[in-house]
Amino acid sequence: MNPWFAKAIILASSIVMVIIRAPHGQRSRSVKVVRSGRGALEIVLLTLAWSAFFVPLVWVAAPVFAFADYSLHPVPLLLGVVCLAAGLWLFARSHADLGTNWSVTLEVREEHRLVTEGIYRTVRHPMYSALLLYSLGQALVVPNWIAGPSYGVAIALVFAFRLGPEERMMLEQFGKEYGEYRGRTKRLVPHVW
Ligand code: SAH
Repeated sequence: MNPWFAKAIILASSIVMVIIRAPHGQRSRSVKVVRSGRGALEIVLLTLAWSAFFVPLVWVAAPVFAFADYSLHPVPLLLGVVCLAAGLWLFARSHADLGTNWSVTLEVREEHRLVTEGIYRTVRHPMYSALLLYSLGQALVVPNWIAGPSYGVAIALVFAFRLGPEERMMLEQFGKEYGEYRGRTKRLVPHVW
């Protein structure tokens, strides 16, 4: 298949992701931060995630990774589109449910409320599940050994280092309420893990 199908899908899904996030990024800047867990590790992780987000776009725009290209097949392409769409839907839902309590990094905001409803009822990190699903979609859609899995590898690394500190921060902030919430929910996959 012509790789331009994959390129068009990656371009469109990246644009949708930016459109979903933009209003939340803008709004969150207007809510005061009362507690920050943004240390050196967080800065490294954020830089890694952002850089990896652009790797598939570089693949779309320039032949830098052409040596690692392989041919595109319709089955992984279709499966990938399903993962991308599901990931984007979950990304939008978790942003809507988290509202002004969302931050790009580890932060507690003024009047921060623990969200346990909506998409947060069964999993504690649906936004991270969304990004993992989205990155799986990219790996299936992009017929390139570097640009395909790059975002997934980066995101998995970021979450591996961030989940523990994030949950500790929530526990310190919300105490028993978070302890109980943690007891009745899973981290990333409903009823599984
Ligand atoms: N890990 C969550 C949220 C990611 S955004 C997810 O994947 O859906 C990161 C910020 O969200 C953190 O700084 C933390 O302050 C906040 N946060 C995480 N879980 C929360 C919850 N259940 N309710 C309110 N805020 C939460």
